[in-house]
Amino acid sequence: MSGGGRISRLVRSGSCLLPASRTRHGCSTAEHVHSTAEQAHSTAPAELQLRTEDVFRSRSVRDLLRAVAVYQVCAFDRIVDNSLQLLRLGEQLLGSRLLQRLVSPFYRQFVAGSDRQQLERTVTALRADGIRFMMTSMLEADVGEQAASEEQLTANMEEALRQMMLVRDITSEEDQPAIQTKFTAHMDVELLVLASRVFSASSEPTALVERLAKAMVTSGQVIVPGMTRQQQKQWDGAALRLKTLGDACAQHNMSLFVDGEFTYTNPAISWITLALMTALNQHRAVVRGTYQCYLKATPSNLEQEYSITRQLGACFGAKLVRGAYMARERQLAQKEQRPSPVCESYEETTANYTRAVEFALRRVAEDEGRTQIMVATHNYDSIVHALRLSAMLQLTPASSGLSFGQIYGMADYLTIPLARSGHRAYKAVPFGEFSTVMPYLSRRAAESRLIQQGVRLERQLLLKELAGRISRRGRAREVVV
Ligand SMILES: Cc1cc2nc3c(=O)[nH]c(=O)nc-3n(C[C@H](O)[C@H](O)[C@H](O)COP(=O)(O)OP(=O)(O)OC[C@H]3O[C@@H](n4cnc5c(N)ncnc54)[C@H](O)[C@@H]3O)c2cc1C
Repeated sequence: MSGGGRISRLVRSGSCLLPASRTRHGCSTAEHVHSTAEQAHSTAPAELQLRTEDVFRSRSVRDLLRAVAVYQVCAFDRIVDNSLQLLRLGEQLLGSRLLQRLVSPFYRQFVAGSDRQQLERTVTALRADGIRFMMTSMLEADVGEQAASEEQLTANMEEALRQMMLVRDITSEEDQPAIQTKFTAHMDVELLVLASRVFSASSEPTALVERLAKAMVTSGQVIVPGMTRQQQKQWDGAALRLKTLGDACAQHNMSLFVDGEFTYTNPAISWITLALMTALNQHRAVVRGTYQCYLKATPSNLEQEYSITRQLGACFGAKLVRGAYMARERQLAQKEQRPSPVCESYEETTANYTRAVEFALRRVAEDEGRTQIMVATHNYDSIVHALRLSAMLQLTPASSGLSFGQIYGMADYLTIPLARSGHRAYKAVPFGEFSTVMPYLSRRAAESRLIQQGVRLERQLLLKELAGRISRRGRAREVVV
C-alpha cells in the first residue's frame, strides 16, 4: 500500500494502529522489528491504538486554519530553502515589528511566546491534554560565528537558570518538566571542537569520563592536551557552569536533555554529558544525552556510552532522534573530501533508529528505573514500533523508562493520543523573543518539509476537523431555520 493510500485510510478510520507498513520510501520499518515483537503485533492491546479522531477538538477554528496555512507554506521549497535569509532581509527592509506581524502565524505555531503569561497558557493547554512540558532553549552557537566572551557564556547560563526557575514556578512536580539545552550556548565552540578531537583519540573512554566527572564534583581540573592555559581555564569554567545547571535540575526534580549538534562538536558534548551523568545520575537519569540516528556510528556509540555509565554506576538517560543537520553535515564532508558521517539513505537512518530504540528499550526493561529513554520522533511507524516493543517487554504506559517527544506545533495527532492513552508524552516547547528564534523557525520550516509523511497526515486531519465543524455548523443553522 502506498503512503498516500495508507494515510487516507488512517484519516477515514481515525485510528492509527498499523500493520507492518511501507514507509514513504517503500521500506518497511516494521521489517526491522525483532521477530518476537512482530508476534506482539497480533496481540497488541487496545491501549496501543493511537486514536487520531477528535485530537483537535479543543482547537479554535482560527488555530486550525493557521496550522493548515503554515504547513501549506512550508511545502514550498524555495521559501523553505531560503527562509533564514528571507527573514533577515525582511527584518532589514520592514523592521523587526512589521516582520514579526507578517510571520506571526509561524511564530505562534512553533513558539510558546516570550513572557511568563504566554508560557503559563501553553503549559495549561498542554496539561489539559495530559502532555508534559520540555522547555527548549534558543541559545546556541556555531563554528565561524564570533566567539562568545566568558561574560556572554555566563549570561547564557544565568538565562538558562532563569528559564529553569520559570518552568519550576509554572509546573508542578507531577508534571515532571524537562529542559533541553545546547552546550554550544555554554562553552566556546572552538573549545568543543578541540576537545572533540582529543577525546575521540582516547583509548580509555571510561577512565576519561570518570576523571571528568570527578573534576566536576571536586572543582578539580582535567588537563586537555593541546589546550592553551587560557583555553584550559575556559574549559574548567564551562564544566562548572554545566554542573551548576545539572545540579539545579536535580534539585528541582527536572530532567536535563543535552542536544546533539554537529559531528565536529558532538564527541566532546557526549563525554561531558557522560561525566554529568556520572556525577548526577546516581538515583535517576537527571541528565540525558541525545543520539542522532542519521549518523552511521550512532548505534555503536549508544551501546558504548550505555556501557560506560553502567560501569561507573550511573543511571543512563537518552533522547533518540533521527537528526536535524543532515544537509550541512553532508556539505561539510564533501568540502573536506571525507566520507559523509550521515547514512546514505532515509532507509538506513530508519534502520539505525529502529536498532537504537530496540537496544535502549531492552535496557529499560532490564534495569527499569535506571535507564530512561525518550523516543523523540514525528514518525508514526517508529512510535508504533516502540509501543509494540514496550508492550512485548511488559513495560506499562506509565513506566518512567519510556517517554515520547515531539516538537511544539508539530505532530499533535501523535502527541495527543499518546498522552491520552497514559504514555509520557512531551512537547519540546521553544520560548523567546522573535529575534532570538529566527534560526529555530527556519529549521522548523525545513523540518516540516522533511517529514512529509507526517505533515501530510496532520494536514488531512486538520482539514477533516475543519470540514466537520463547517458541516455541523451548517446542520445547526438548518435546525434553527
Ligand atoms: C523532542 C525532540 C528533540 C529533538 N532534539 C534534537 C537534537 O537534540 N538534535 C538533533 O539533531 N535533532 C533533534 N530533533 C530533530 C530530529 O533529529 C529530526 O530532525 C526530526 O524529528 C525529524 O525526524 P523524524 O523522526 O521526526 O521524522 P522522519 O520524517 O521519519 O525523518 C526525517 C529525518 O530522517 C532523516 N533523513 C531524511 N532523509 C534522509 C536521507 N536521504 N538520508 C539519511 N537520512 C535522512 C533526517 O534526519 C530527517 O530529519 C529533535 C526532535 C524532537 C521531536
